[in-house]
Amino acid sequence: MPILDSWIADRTRNFDSSGIRKMFDLAADLKDPINLSIGQPDFAVPRAVKDELIKAVEEDKNGYALTQGMPVLREKLQAEIDHKFGHSDRKVFVCSGTSGGLMLAALAMVNPGDEVIYFDPYFVMYPALVELVGGKSVKLSTYPDFQIDMQLLEDSITDRTKMIILNSPSNPTGVCCSEGQLKAVAELAERKGICLVADEIYSRFTYDHQHFSVAKFNERSIIIDGFSKSHAMTGLRVGYVHGPVDIIDTMIKLQQFTFVCAPQPCQWACAVALDTDISHHVAEYELKRDKMINGIKDSYEIVKPDGAFYVFPRLPWGNGQEFCEHAIDNNLMVIPGTIFSDHDTHFRVSYAASDEILDRGIEVLNKIAKRG
Ligand code: PMP
Repeated sequence: MPILDSWIADRTRNFDSSGIRKMFDLAADLKDPINLSIGQPDFAVPRAVKDELIKAVEEDKNGYALTQGMPVLREKLQAEIDHKFGHSDRKVFVCSGTSGGLMLAALAMVNPGDEVIYFDPYFVMYPALVELVGGKSVKLSTYPDFQIDMQLLEDSITDRTKMIILNSPSNPTGVCCSEGQLKAVAELAERKGICLVADEIYSRFTYDHQHFSVAKFNERSIIIDGFSKSHAMTGLRVGYVHGPVDIIDTMIKLQQFTFVCAPQPCQWACAVALDTDISHHVAEYELKRDKMINGIKDSYEIVKPDGAFYVFPRLPWGNGQEFCEHAIDNNLMVIPGTIFSDHDTHFRVSYAASDEILDRGIEVLNKIAKRG
């Protein structure tokens, strides 16, 4: 329809979600799919968190929240952050999911024409995010080991570089930056006066070592985290951002005119989530990671992931589309790497699933590793 087409703003024209939509359309007819495509935990929201959410709704705490977040949650987060980093200029606010925080960070800081560096493979939202605010994506390859090449990073910085987005543990690779690497990136950003935004949504899911935040090495970094993954509440839309007061205040101002607030009852629930131990889930996910890796390592080339809940194996044959369509023919859903990358060489497996589903998935993955 030409008229409706002309209503669509130019800034959205280059978005392409057709690849993933095609995969889901193909999978729609599967009866009982082995679904290893999901980017959310398979455990339930902890009981105490659910109870608090229900209580908040029943107590009519359903109105607008304060734009910067309800004190019950924000003050607890601020105390934790102050204790952890001890920075004099670090303030937190509550936003509508990590996605909301990323959007506000881009709106608050990226001017049209500014360059934003992030690493390939990347979280699906980043290219669209940069495009929306008129920025220019500078994607730096981390293949084949998914580690940052510091020389490449340094060489890619120009006088238009405004921001570096770092995601560790990473979606889709599950790989974490080492402490040394984070320190190097943090110091480089500081030295060059570039804003470092860290998407730390998988911070609770690290297996072989503790999580390191770049805020430890860069007092002006903007850290974005949330409750979607840690407490399995992707639908409840609560995230938080901390960083220098002037930047955070700008983001709060923008939140007032866009998202308004994160849902109030969910914020009461998140205050309880902060006191709710999820370490048994993390331990379970470490076992699931090992099960998946050990199950398919003879058939696939894999960089061992030390966080999140994804594995990003190399394609054994064909391109991502062909391979993932063949997986669907075998009742298995996995995601082609092109959704997360400019390279068509890998695919993403999520092990956030029951052990029974993982066993079935491993069997099919081993079967389809050989074409035919
Ligand atoms: N960043 C990354 C790296 C993610 O994987 C996701 C969720 N898939 C998000 C951000 C968005 O999470 P939220 O539900 O908090 O918006």
